[in-house]
Parts: sequence; structure tokens; C-alpha cells
Amino acid sequence: MKTFRQLRFDNHYARLPDHFFSRHLPAPLEGARLVHFNVAAARLIDLDPAEAHSPAFEDFACGRKLPPDCEPIAMCYAGHQFGQLVPRLGDGRAILLGQVANDDGSSQDLQLKGSGPTRYSRGSDGRAVLRSTIREYLCSEAMHGLGIPTTRALCLVAGDEEVYREQIETGAMLLRMAPGHIRFGSFEYFYYAQRYDDLRTLADYTIDRYFPELREQANPPLALLERVIHDTAQLIAAWQAVGFSHGVMNSDNMSIHGITLDYGPFGFLDAYDPGFICNHSDHGGRYAFDRQPGIGLFNLSCLAQALLPLIDPQPEAAAELARDALGRYQASFDTAYRARMREKLGLFESRAGDDALCDALLDAMAANRADYTRVFRRLSETDGAGRLGELFSDPASCDAWLQRYRARLAQEPVEAALRSERMKRVNPKFVLRNHLAETAIRKARDARDYSEIDRLMILMQAPYDEHPGFEAYAGEPPDWARGISVSCSS
Ligand code: AMP
Ligand code: MG
Repeated sequence: MKTFRQLRFDNHYARLPDHFFSRHLPAPLEGARLVHFNVAAARLIDLDPAEAHSPAFEDFACGRKLPPDCEPIAMCYAGHQFGQLVPRLGDGRAILLGQVANDDGSSQDLQLKGSGPTRYSRGSDGRAVLRSTIREYLCSEAMHGLGIPTTRALCLVAGDEEVYREQIETGAMLLRMAPGHIRFGSFEYFYYAQRYDDLRTLADYTIDRYFPELREQANPPLALLERVIHDTAQLIAAWQAVGFSHGVMNSDNMSIHGITLDYGPFGFLDAYDPGFICNHSDHGGRYAFDRQPGIGLFNLSCLAQALLPLIDPQPEAAAELARDALGRYQASFDTAYRARMREKLGLFESRAGDDALCDALLDAMAANRADYTRVFRRLSETDGAGRLGELFSDPASCDAWLQRYRARLAQEPVEAALRSERMKRVNPKFVLRNHLAETAIRKARDARDYSEIDRLMILMQAPYDEHPGFEAYAGEPPDWARGISVSCSS
């Protein structure tokens, strides 16, 4: 464990050529104060949680005073937003303060989000509102609790500064942690600017820093693409299995580390609706729940396109290699998704007909507006199958499916109690439904009461546990939740 003053920063991204980023100090946020500290995330940098109360740490987290070895920068990138290329985006409201090495040899980026305008703000204010900051703070921890790769958040800072969105809100900041913040769009930036030397520099940096084992491969840039294709397929399979909808799967929000990045208008499924659109600004449903695997492939194609000049100097040869690599995405996704869904059903051996059995349940759930999380959790209980119908608008509608399911379970060697235990480890009781986050937001905003964040952090960090007494947090959304609207505004 280290004190804050013992942490050593080394911003190796700032060693890259000047035009990869822009140097900025965070702009002070009026009334900034630390309102929540994530003890679990502090372990990632060996930081003593007692430091949350130290003035030096608070000054750092609020962006007021940085240690001398920090080299704060805003990173430059491009991206496909809702299918359209935007050749220059970049961190318009976030500053990478530096990287902190951990005693185990890994390192974490510390990035302050909501830290004021940068060269990439494109006329916007560089701020984040309390509402969206709380949502990211809670959701990144919820995803981690679910075992899904994600950025983390070390602490939450609230301010008094007025920030103008659809209405006046207050500004806030989040200290985000990730192994790195390189996005698919980071490569697109140099590709579309036709700066192929810079493209190579970025690829070399990425490989040497994060994937040194790929150096041994015959074609390291191709191996990098293959690695990201694989990791992204695994990530999206995990999203689909747990019922998570990202909401803004633009290529600038896709991490080359295969982690969930940039929480905006995300949503977890309540009633199962495969076409669920969590983002109220997404009128065409481009990022609907069931389109996520396909959008993953679109984004990977954007990355592949950007890497072409590095994959082979001959355009046709490069394109063929990239196409082959992309061609393996679907199978990689399907295998991962199907394995997760089988486990959710307690089928630990794979048999012909399992996928159809799973799909039949999903169809019945969709037809009956059955709650996604609750159905799988109910099935995980030893006596759950008998009470499954309660979750369907027509309780008899799952009888035929249950008969098939029971016949299939009879072929599994695992006895019921053990199966239930294993199923409960893959079927969460708690997910961060919108109304839960909204309650925490309202208390924080209206009464400066952050206690609901505490409660949700405890539940979401261990979402597979029972947490007796917290049944209400595992229930379906109350009627008032219908009024919650989440959009790109954040
Ligand atoms: P996002 O949809 O949050 O991933 O943001 C897309 C792009 O817009 C990124 O380059 C952000 O940095 C930028 N951006 C979003 N909101 C703001 C803001 N309030 N001020 C400046 N830049 C922003
Ligand atoms: Mg973004």
C-alpha cells in the first residue's frame, strides 16, 4: 500500500510525437469536492484507501494540483459516429493525467473526465454533468462485478458549476482507470489523415507496450487486429449474455483492450426485448441491443481498414488478410455467446439442440415481456422452474418450454443443488437498472446525499450474491421509471 505521494506517474503516451495529443491542465471546477472513493479500484494502483481523505489526493482528483511527474494530455483520435466518419475527435472533456505503475508490473491510465475544454472540444464546454458521471461511476463497477472487462473509476467529484444541457445541471468529474485509452478511432485518425508513419508509430507503441507477445508473430499488425477481433467478440458476447446495451457503439468508444469504454446512455434489459434501444437519441435503432454483435463487426472493419497499410504494402494482399481475420469474428462471437447462454441455463455439457432450447426461451420471454435478469436468476434457484411462469404475462406460456428443459436437465450429470450454485454465479441477481441509478442521482443532486451510491456499489460489486434485505433492488422497474429518458446528452 502506498500513500498518494508515493505514487509515481509516468505518462508514456506523452513520449509519442507531439501531434498525437495536446497538453492541457484540467480547468478548475467550481466547488469541486470528492464525494465518493472506490476502495476496490484503489487496489489497482496499490493506493492506500485512507488516502481518500488526504488533501493532496483530493487536490489531485479535483484537478487542482497535480504531482510534478504528471504530464496531463488530451489524446487525439477520430471515429465513426453513427456510421459516419468524423476525422478528428479526441478527448474533448477528459485529460489523461498519467500512468501509475503497479507493484505487479502492470500500469493504469488515470484519466479525469469532465475536466474542462481541450483542443478537441469542438465548441463544447468540456464538462460532464453529475447525472452522467454517477451513471458511469456505478456502471463501470457493476460491469466489473459481473466479470465483464471495463474501465474502472477511482473516485467521483461533484461541483457547483452550472452546466447547460437540456436544462441547467451541475458539473462533476470522474477519475477513470484503464490499462490504456487507445480506441479503434486512434488508428483511424492517422489512417484518414494519410499519416502512415504515425500509424506505424501508434501500432508499434500499442504492441510493444500492451501486447509484446505479438512481436514474435510473422505479421504483428495483423496479429494485433486478430487479437482485438477476438477480445471484442468475447466482450460483446458477455454484454449480450448479461443483457447490457452500450448505447453509443461508435468506433471512438471501442477500446483496443476489449474493455467496455465510455458509458453514456447505456441500459440493462428489464423486460426482454431483443430490439431494445437504450439511447433515446438513437432514432434509427442503430445501436439496438440485438444489433450490437453486428455493430462490433462494423467497428472492427473500421479498425481493419485503418491498419491496412501496416498489414501489407500491397493493398489487395492487405485487404485479403484483413477480410480473413474479420471473417472469423462471427464464429468467435457465436462460440462465446452460446457457451455463456448454456451456462446460464445450467447446461454444463454441450448437446445438439441446446441453442434451439435457449432461443425458444428467449422467444417466449420476448412474447411475454418477461424480465431478462429475473428469469435466469429464477431458473438458478433449486425450486425456481416451478415458479417461472409468474414472470411471464401468460404464465402457461412457458409450460411447454419447461418440459423440454427438464428433459434436457435430466441428461446433465450435475445434481440440482450444485447446478443451482453454479448457475447463480453466472446469473446475477442485481444489475444496474436505470431506476436504481436514477434514485442515486436524485438523492445526490437534490440533497447532496451520496449514501445510495454506497448501497449500490456494495450490491453491484457482488451481483451474484443474495444480499438478504435488498430484494427491492432486484425487482422490476417501478412505474415512475417509465419517465426516465437517457440520451447522448451527458
Ligand atoms: P461521447 O459521445 O461522450 O463518446 O463523445 C464524443 C466526442 O465528443 C468525444 O470526442 C468527446 O470528448 C466529445 N464531447 C462530448 N461531450 C463533450 C463536452 N461536453 N465538451 C467537449 N467535448 C465533448
Ligand atoms: Mg467517447
